[in-house]
Parts: sequence; structure tokens; C-alpha cells
Amino acid sequence: MFKIAKISELMASAGFDAWGVVRVGELSDAKARFESWLAEGNAPTLHYLHRNADKRFDASLLLEGARSVVVGAVSYKNEFSEGYKADFDARIASYALTSDYHTVLKDMLREVATGLGISDRKAAKICVDSTPLAEKALAHLAGIGWVGRNSLIINPQLGSFMVLGALVLTEECDTYSTPYKGDGCVGCSRCLLRCPTGAINPNRTINTTLCISNRTVEPSAEKGAFDTHGWVFGCDECQSCCPHNAIAPLHTNQRFDRLITPTDYNRTFWDNLSTEEGKTLFEGTPLVRRFKE
Ligand code: SF4
Ligand code: SF4
Repeated sequence: MFKIAKISELMASAGFDAWGVVRVGELSDAKARFESWLAEGNAPTLHYLHRNADKRFDASLLLEGARSVVVGAVSYKNEFSEGYKADFDARIASYALTSDYHTVLKDMLREVATGLGISDRKAAKICVDSTPLAEKALAHLAGIGWVGRNSLIINPQLGSFMVLGALVLTEECDTYSTPYKGDGCVGCSRCLLRCPTGAINPNRTINTTLCISNRTVEPSAEKGAFDTHGWVFGCDECQSCCPHNAIAPLHTNQRFDRLITPTDYNRTFWDNLSTEEGKTLFEGTPLVRRFKE
């Protein structure tokens, strides 16, 4: 049995800003909401979301014998998270200006697993985005924050410019976190008003067909004419307007220091950049996804 105090020590030392531990069980409410969201046609081209729904909401189907999920969040907030000048039309979402969070978070979670003395691959599974796991639902249960109207997890101190990762364990823990209580969105609808394409549904979900982030990042997104409102890759509009992000500090984990200055590149640069040049120039950052064929 792992002690929560030891997990906390390791998560802090690995560079996480917030974390919690959830007992494994089927997340039936979250699964029902997710299935309704899919059935309502909110993600027609994101085929990976239509697969493995059972695993996504029950970690024991991802790792045999799973008992606990450690969920961690790290802030990547940088100066470009706060927004761009109104006339700048080559905007990049601020998460894409750093090292690829998949790689960084996996390394951090590996450190935690090693610190727990885990050497058997059957005793732990690292999950960062590409593994089907309901990280937002788990982050809420882990006490990290609430799901905001912009559909993202918001932590009262760190805001929503965070990336999430999870470590599924076959061991029990001595205590488990309590779900985040409270809703810091009450009385606010700034993100709904700010979204340039009306992609935010009233039930705190996103219509990905209308979402600039999906349309500019996902290789499988609908092609064809679509006004990206000055965004080249991703979109931070529904985060940079959020009052919780306005007061959140900039990131402190140096692994999320900015590698790219987006204002160095104008729209003409992006329109003329070849796939090969893009891959070379932005290797190791989330931006390479733009150049996937
Ligand atoms: S990322 Fe942009 S387009 Fe998508 S919901 Fe947020 S504001 Fe709207
Ligand atoms: S802008 Fe307002 S409504 Fe939207 S996520 Fe932030 S606090 Fe919630």
C-alpha cells in the first residue's frame, strides 16, 4: 500500500503543481455525459474518441488489477497565454510554444513511478492524452479543480493553462483525495461570449466542428474553408479571457519554459512553410502536429 504523503513528495519533486489520488472505479456519470456528447455529433472526425469508451472511464480495463490513479497537473502559462495584439494574425496556442507536454509529463510520471519503487510494467501505467483515460473527470475527483464552462479543468490558484497526466497503479493507497467542491464559473460567461465561432455548448462541452483549436491541430479535422480568426495552431481565446487565468501566476516548472516566440513568425511565413521545414524547425514541440501528413 502506498502512502499519500510519499506520493505527494514525489509529485512535488517531479515538478507537478497540483495532484490528487483517485480510487479506481467506473466513472459512470462522466461516461454517460461523454456518450451523449458524442451522440449529439460534437466530435464527428475525432475517431479515436469513438473507440475504447469503456477503457476511458474505467482504469482497470487499461491496467489489469488497477486500484489507484494518481492525477497530476502542471501549469504552462506564459506571457502569450494572456493574449495577442488584436491585429496579430499568426497566433499560436501557448501550450504549443514549449516542449511537447506528452514527452515531459511521461518523464515526470516515470520519475514518480521509480520513486515508488515500481519496476514491473504490470504494476503501473502512464497515461498522457494519447492513452484513453478521462483525465478531466479524474482531475475533478482528485480535487484539482472544477470543469469550467470552457470545458477545461480550472484550478483556483493555477487557472486552466495546465496539462494533465495520470499514473495508474495496481496498489491501493492509504487515503484518497476528495472531489473538488465548488464552481468558480458561477455568474460568469466570458468564455462563451469570447469564443469567436460559438463552439462552446451550454453544458460545458465543445462542439469540435466549430472549435478553432480542433480545426487547426487535429490532422483528422474537417478540411475546407473555415475562419480561424487569426489562429494558426490552437486557440486560447476561451482561456485568456477567464478571470481565473488573469490572476494565475506564470508557470514555474522550467520544463515548460517557452521555446518559440510566436511573434517572430507572420502569416506569410506559415502560409509558405513546407512540411519538411516545419518538422525540422519545430521538432520536439506540439507544433509538429501541424505538419503530420
Ligand atoms: S478553443 Fe477557441 S474556438 Fe475552441 S472553444 Fe475555445 S475559444 Fe472557442
Ligand atoms: S471565463 Fe468565466 S465561465 Fe468561462 S471558464 Fe472562466 S470563469 Fe468559467
